Amino acid sequence: MSEALLELRDVHRTYRVGESDVQALRGVSLRVRRGEFVAIMGPSGSGKSSLMHILGLLDNPDRGEYRMLGEDVGRLSEDEQAGVRNHVAGFVFQQFHLLRRMSIVDNVRLPHIYSGMKGDFRPEALRSLRKVGLEHRLDHTPSQLSGGEQQRVAIARALIRDPMIIFADEPTGNLDSRNSREIMKILEGLHREGRTIVMVTHEDEIAAYAGRIITMRDGLVVSDEHRPSGEPVAGELPSDAASPQAMMHASRAVPAWRDGRFAAFARQALQAILANKVRSFLSVLGIFVGVASVIAMMALGEGARASIREEMKSLGSNLLSVRGGSAKIRGAARGDGAVARFTLRDVRDIAAMRGLVKRASGSVNGSARLVYRNRNWSATLDGVGYDYGLMRATVPAIGRWFTPEEIQRRDKVAVIGATVARELFGRSNPVGQTIKINRINFRVVGLAPPKGFSTHRDQDDIVLIPVTTAMYRVLGKDYLDRIYVEVESAGAIDAAKDAVSALIMKNHRLRDSDSFNIRDMTEIQEMLSSTTQTMSMLLGSIAAISLLVGGIGIMNIMLVSVSERTREIGLRKAIGARRSDIMLQFLVESVGMTLSGGLLGVLAGAGISSMLAAFAGWAVQTTLFSILLATVFSALVGMFFGIWPARKAAALKPVEALRYE
Ligand code: ADP
Ligand code: MG
Repeated sequence: MSEALLELRDVHRTYRVGESDVQALRGVSLRVRRGEFVAIMGPSGSGKSSLMHILGLLDNPDRGEYRMLGEDVGRLSEDEQAGVRNHVAGFVFQQFHLLRRMSIVDNVRLPHIYSGMKGDFRPEALRSLRKVGLEHRLDHTPSQLSGGEQQRVAIARALIRDPMIIFADEPTGNLDSRNSREIMKILEGLHREGRTIVMVTHEDEIAAYAGRIITMRDGLVVSDEHRPSGEPVAGELPSDAASPQAMMHASRAVPAWRDGRFAAFARQALQAILANKVRSFLSVLGIFVGVASVIAMMALGEGARASIREEMKSLGSNLLSVRGGSAKIRGAARGDGAVARFTLRDVRDIAAMRGLVKRASGSVNGSARLVYRNRNWSATLDGVGYDYGLMRATVPAIGRWFTPEEIQRRDKVAVIGATVARELFGRSNPVGQTIKINRINFRVVGLAPPKGFSTHRDQDDIVLIPVTTAMYRVLGKDYLDRIYVEVESAGAIDAAKDAVSALIMKNHRLRDSDSFNIRDMTEIQEMLSSTTQTMSMLLGSIAAISLLVGGIGIMNIMLVSVSERTREIGLRKAIGARRSDIMLQFLVESVGMTLSGGLLGVLAGAGISSMLAAFAGWAVQTTLFSILLATVFSALVGMFFGIWPARKAAALKPVEALRYE
């Protein structure tokens, strides 16, 4: 007697349903020799499918032993069992279990993805389909075929790995008698090739094709008949099929990207995404919006910074600002808290530094209550020197700037900003009119050119008067708040800083420079850009929140997709997919989704930015960095939020997943 191919010893299987136990198998012992054609019969619920699942390693016994070619396969790990299923078994189910999105040829070659072998396997799929007479339907989808044809495709799929054993659970259960006969002829042919066939059926006509009929009742084998014609067919299958051990280790430890599994998953993910276009789009909407706003905001932030730089340049980057107080920002006064008080003499001395300094102007600052007829207004008051007009580009286009004589004589003349002019004079011409500044009458001689908003204040809400007038007549100060210095050339800035510093220390008999500070425009510019940076951070975090929400959307849709495709997962596991394969498949899908949402978002964000530039005249600059950041981030979102659904899918048990309705 030849060695048993399959051997069960006292196998039990109990399902727990709520509080009660269902004993599906209650001690089954069975030997199947190589080349046998076995039919398992019995009434519905007698345990036929349970037995077949255990024989096919789709399920494991609670008690008892299962050996395949003498090997205790019941003890193998989940992944090793998947390897055995892929290498030695082919499955045919009553419900066909074809993947409806894939073409016939893709369905047939599916087991090869999990075989660890490299290649395209189209020729093999063709050969397999020719065996069942369907080589002309390669590129159809399953729904375009009749039931009988679908079952033939399922058989072709079972054959592609050239298995030793074919497990068929009610293969003709959903077919009419003509199609049933055809399917049975095919199985008969496969048996004649030397394959072992284990088939579950409850029809006598179908069982008649088998050489041995095992009858079950209530989880036990009640009869086991060999028919006279039922001798095993001598195996002509390759002899390397002898060791399941060799078979199951054959495909282990091949990284997914080496054998084309990754590419196959990517292709299938694309199919899955495209199969539900609207749903996929809606679920990546959050990512799309998030990425688009990140791109647009970063473009705006970058543009704002660039335009500040430009503005600074036009202002004259050679400008120094000398102020009393510590150099520390928000001047937490150090030491004795002394503040240098600059005088007009300091200004004259600085202006006299030939070769280093081009011009200098002192300024005092205060606030002005303004009255013109019955109108009141408050504005910033700057008392400035003659050169200030040139240095800060405030020489009026309407009216005129102060004359040196007016400044000398402390005349009551004023140049007003656009906001002040609008508030006090409406549309009429202010030049030549008299206004009250802190109750003193001043003549308006010019209208300062509009400057717009700086980061925090309206630069046009201002009144300029001669610095002398401001000090002695309006504000009652005998010192300057600030001195503006225009350096001859950009290269001389550091030298000028040192010289100005030394001069002030000498004039005021200071030992160090702690009581005043000198800033150049690059420092001021830095301060401004840090402000805009804060803005873009704020906007960026809003975008991050929408990415988070988008990620949760993806997770939700992936969970839906996992439960929708439970039977697909069951089938994939049956034909040999390991946990990691299922996991990878779903991760590729979720990352594929977020990534495509992200890329669309990049396009939209860049589009929005250039529209803002074109129609609103805003300064924008889309950077490569922002594009890379958004892309990488959306991929990470897919990875992070895809993991849970993917794990859930990977943890499904093959039989339970296949039974899922
Ligand atoms: P058959 O294929 O002979 O119709 P099964 O092997 O499918 O029978 O089922 C045997 C018994 O086990 C039945 O009573 C069935 O309801 C029960 N059963 C099968 N699978 C499960 C399961 N996953 N959970 C709970 N009960 C099950
Ligand atoms: Mg059944």
